Amino acid sequence: MDNRTEQLRKIKDEIVDAKNSPLYNFRIKNKFLPVIGEGNHNTKIMFIGEAPGKNEALTGRPFCGAAGKVLDELLKSISLDRKEVYVTNIVKDRPPFNRDPLPEEIEYYAPFLDRQIEIMKPKVIATLGRFSMAYIMKKFGLESELRSISVIHGKIFEAETSYGPDFSKSRKDFRKIEDPRFANRASREANRDKIKIIPLYHPAVAIYNNNTMEILKKDFMVLKEFVK
Ligand code: URA
Repeated sequence: MDNRTEQLRKIKDEIVDAKNSPLYNFRIKNKFLPVIGEGNHNTKIMFIGEAPGKNEALTGRPFCGAAGKVLDELLKSISLDRKEVYVTNIVKDRPPFNRDPLPEEIEYYAPFLDRQIEIMKPKVIATLGRFSMAYIMKKFGLESELRSISVIHGKIFEAETSYGPDFSKSRKDFRKIEDPRFANRASREANRDKIKIIPLYHPAVAIYNNNTMEILKKDFMVLKEFVK
């Protein structure tokens, strides 16, 4: 197992055992599984949804129900295979009655998401829905740019990462550390890698609404340039 997979396994074990989670008792009572995330641990693009639905909680896999079908269709529309990207949620257990996640549930699970981001160091985070949009934009210092999802969906926001460049992902980045011009810490800081944050509508809104599907398809085209 490589190091990333090992660290992600540790997160999974902790969530499985998260007895003080506000959703733990509901999970156990219904024989549900937590949904940690799935996909390529070396992905450039990470998708972050809201919380597992019933299908997801029964299988332990993110976006495997109706919203997942929409997500698959959207990925296909930009020739991106689900296996190439990583898909997760901000809340890792299913809230009762498919209700919106509560602030205390987001607060409980967000540190696990933070660790997943730190481990995988994606170059692009595509948020699915308003909850992950709000959390991720605040996390990356974009609070002042936060608007309603109907206003900022499909826009690209750039932010600094706390983890700096991931040299395994780009040869250009790799050259930077070899280059003496970047040798001192200050210039390396100034040259810190940027992450792109792209808020998208939640795929579930397109299940019965063809107009939103068209908007989502258009927004997904924005992701295409980051695929290669
Ligand atoms: N909706 C989400 O936000 N996440 C899932 O995994 C499934 C449905």
